[in-house]
Amino acid sequence: MRVDAAANLIGRRGGPGGRVLMLGSHTDTVEAGGRFDGIVGVVGALEVARCLNEAGVELSLPLEVVDFLCEEPTIVNLSPLGSRIMAGNLTGEHFGGAVTPFGDALTDAIDALGGDSANVEAARRSLGEIAGYLELHIEQGVVLERESLAIGVVTSIAAPCRARVSLTGVADHAGATPMNERRDGLAGAAELVLAVERIARAPDMIEEGVGTVGWLSVSPNMVNVIPGRVDLTVEVRSTDAEALAIARRSVDEELRAIADRRGLEHTVEWQHVERPVPLPEHMQGAVAQACEDLGFPVRRLPSRASHDAARLAPVAPAGMVFIRCKEGRSHCPEEWADLDDIVQGARVLGQALFRVDEMARNA
Ligand SMILES: [Zn+2]
Repeated sequence: MRVDAAANLIGRRGGPGGRVLMLGSHTDTVEAGGRFDGIVGVVGALEVARCLNEAGVELSLPLEVVDFLCEEPTIVNLSPLGSRIMAGNLTGEHFGGAVTPFGDALTDAIDALGGDSANVEAARRSLGEIAGYLELHIEQGVVLERESLAIGVVTSIAAPCRARVSLTGVADHAGATPMNERRDGLAGAAELVLAVERIARAPDMIEEGVGTVGWLSVSPNMVNVIPGRVDLTVEVRSTDAEALAIARRSVDEELRAIADRRGLEHTVEWQHVERPVPLPEHMQGAVAQACEDLGFPVRRLPSRASHDAARLAPVAPAGMVFIRCKEGRSHCPEEWADLDDIVQGARVLGQALFRVDEMARNA
């Protein structure tokens, strides 16, 4: 076991050599979050490694089990960390003055965990080094539960795009200012919230499209003052790159129209723009074949949430196994997956690993 320069925790089975098979996920969670998102994937991967050891099974390549550093957005605008650093998508140059919510410099926090922040590039893997990456994860949706299925084969991973928006009007006396002379930032923001909902529901956003305003800051936020300024975030996600581009354009247009109509100044900055990640056919095939081998129906479905697999995809062919979770709930304390489903998921993960190992041997 070792901690790499990015403070990813890595267990390794098998001899030396550059090329590896990889299983993993993350053990961090969101504030007031659940106990299964990510954790099931790491525990499942460890269980697969343990079973291989107990059965004395040799794979053709060494196996690494990775607990990726900070998959969840702990550090503003700079997450996930571990899988992005491993894929070369995040380097020391990006760290700048980044500070954790606990007031530590990100670099110090990485070093405290056993990483090497001055040399994070050492954690980077190049294309070809990872013969295949598999991740077990709870679905965080209701598709499998509604169809009474334990296991799903992930086809693609939706991309989140996030914008920081401000609407500025005039803060004024809530009693003395007539309605037709107001420039109320919050009333404009309220229109935008509804516009985002409408945009995400539009037919061309396809089934997987979602849109959310999850954070607002109202200024001055006083009971008897017209809100002069509102800062907010807009997030849209989809598994379809074109639908995502349309949604972003629509948000920009709606914002401009609302601001013009209400005499507000506005800014919008898309700080975080990603592309959806289709998972390679042969990795989907390995998971599907594993389902068939073990007698599970093959149910393919996209992932609306993002995962380490998506970050790693540029350097590693990635496949994902979903397991059913209770009422699709996640990022909340009610998050739940039954032990039996976790066990079945780990079995599929292990069986898919055999398939990927076979492909690596024959490649
Ligand atoms: Zn997760």
